[in-house]
Amino acid sequence: MPSDKTPRLNRRNLLKSSLAAAASAALSPAARAAQSETAIKNVNTNSSPSTLKITDMRYAVIEKPGPSPCVIIRIDTNQGVSGLGEVRDIAGPQYAMVLKSRLLGENPLRIDYLFQKIQQFGGNARQAGGVCAVEMALWDIAGKVYNIPVYQMLGGKWRDSIRIYADTTESLDPAEYGRRAKERKAMGLTWMKMDLGINVLDGMPGTVMQPSGLSGWEQRVQPNLFIATEVTDKGIDRLCEYVAAVRENIGYDMPLSMDHLGHIGVKSVIRLGKAYEKFNLEWIEDVIPWYYTDLLKEITQESPTPTLTGEDIYRIEDFEKLCSEHAVDKIHPDLATSGGILQTHRIGDMAFKYGVPMAMHFAGTPVSCMASVHCAAATRNFLALENHSLDVPWWQDLATGLDKPIINKGYINVPDTAGLGVALNDDELKKHVRRGTEYFAPTPEWNQAQSWDDALFS
Ligand SMILES: [Mg+2]
Repeated sequence: MPSDKTPRLNRRNLLKSSLAAAASAALSPAARAAQSETAIKNVNTNSSPSTLKITDMRYAVIEKPGPSPCVIIRIDTNQGVSGLGEVRDIAGPQYAMVLKSRLLGENPLRIDYLFQKIQQFGGNARQAGGVCAVEMALWDIAGKVYNIPVYQMLGGKWRDSIRIYADTTESLDPAEYGRRAKERKAMGLTWMKMDLGINVLDGMPGTVMQPSGLSGWEQRVQPNLFIATEVTDKGIDRLCEYVAAVRENIGYDMPLSMDHLGHIGVKSVIRLGKAYEKFNLEWIEDVIPWYYTDLLKEITQESPTPTLTGEDIYRIEDFEKLCSEHAVDKIHPDLATSGGILQTHRIGDMAFKYGVPMAMHFAGTPVSCMASVHCAAATRNFLALENHSLDVPWWQDLATGLDKPIINKGYINVPDTAGLGVALNDDELKKHVRRGTEYFAPTPEWNQAQSWDDALFS
């Protein structure tokens, strides 16, 4: 039985609709267009997606406290819609601009196609900064064209606000460490991180075994395994004083993670992992380079403190190797290295399959931050997103269009506006542009390809 609300198909209704069609046919073309526009009023007409074309790409180099500079890019189109992206912190604009000639004239809505077209020009750590910045900007454009937030295009939200974690500045005094952590907790944070490396043991005899005369290159760039640096029992006892001070100040009820342990050997990492067990750390981070999978697995199996890595990994295949072998307990991609919004969402789903949670690294401006927020909102196994700017009051002034304060009691609200939901505050950004550079100046020097290196096989 049809309900009362079901339209009835009978001769009278058929006659009515026939008359309406005849009347419509008699209308002028303009009147007919107006009528059909009313009929499709729920379809966004901000642009004509099939004829959208990329016409320009420009950048601004922003200096801020912490990892810096940060390069914001803007991709323009032939229909007045622009998208924002951000190169991974510290990397230069050239990582993005070398892609411009490969993007001009393309339809920006072909996100996956364009990502795969430029993917080969990205690599680990900051080398992926340009590819990921472009990918963010394409999603921003797509959201604006269809009038939809980015998280919705990824499948929708698992959460309405994103948990932030942050560390504090370091000190040689354990009590000061504890005091700063307490201040962070008072800001409403629900997750803490502390940087604690063997550098706090400098000048303290009997704490670190290391051959004298190591060059700066050896200490910074040579992988931990090749510089014969180990921490002694005395050193471990001293490091534990710092962790104890932090725990005394924030209690044991909130997660506490640890980064920058220093370049020490595998066995030292394991011994520290055991010493820290009583402090219930959420993870120890990037303890050796991520690509030594077997050694990371050895640490993960031997250390009762969980391990984490990922902020320098570009390819999902490399994350999958770590997850499938359970070489780490948790992963930590930086979306500006791990292929952008869609790839990082896929990395999260992949890790979920293996029972591996995903925190997210981030150290840039609100542009990259909001790209991370949308991804985190739409990814089930997300834990918490890093932020390095809690002590920089003007960090949140760089952007408009977002709920302020952007970080409110340890969380960021997921915006419901189109695209990334972030607009630039030009006046504030111009105060922090790197000296000697111009704010979104024309970039015609990047319009032409300067090398013919797209083909990866012959
Ligand atoms: Mg880190």
